[in-house]
Amino acid sequence: MADEDNQCAHEICTCPTTEDAEYCSDHCKDADDQDLTEISCDCGHTGCGAAMAA
Ligand SMILES: [Zn+2]
Ligand SMILES: [Zn+2]
Repeated sequence: MADEDNQCAHEICTCPTTEDAEYCSDHCKDADDQDLTEISCDCGHTGCGAAMAA
């Protein structure tokens, strides 16, 4: 199951993760835990979600 191209498990998030991390951030983990539906990812990482507007 090891995959070198790991990506955050949050549906709308495109951030890479480390090998043993399911989510890129607590934000994404919490969002999935709470079954939140977001229109853009708010994890704050550059190049993801709202940050792309810059
Ligand atoms: Zn994200
Ligand atoms: Zn994420």
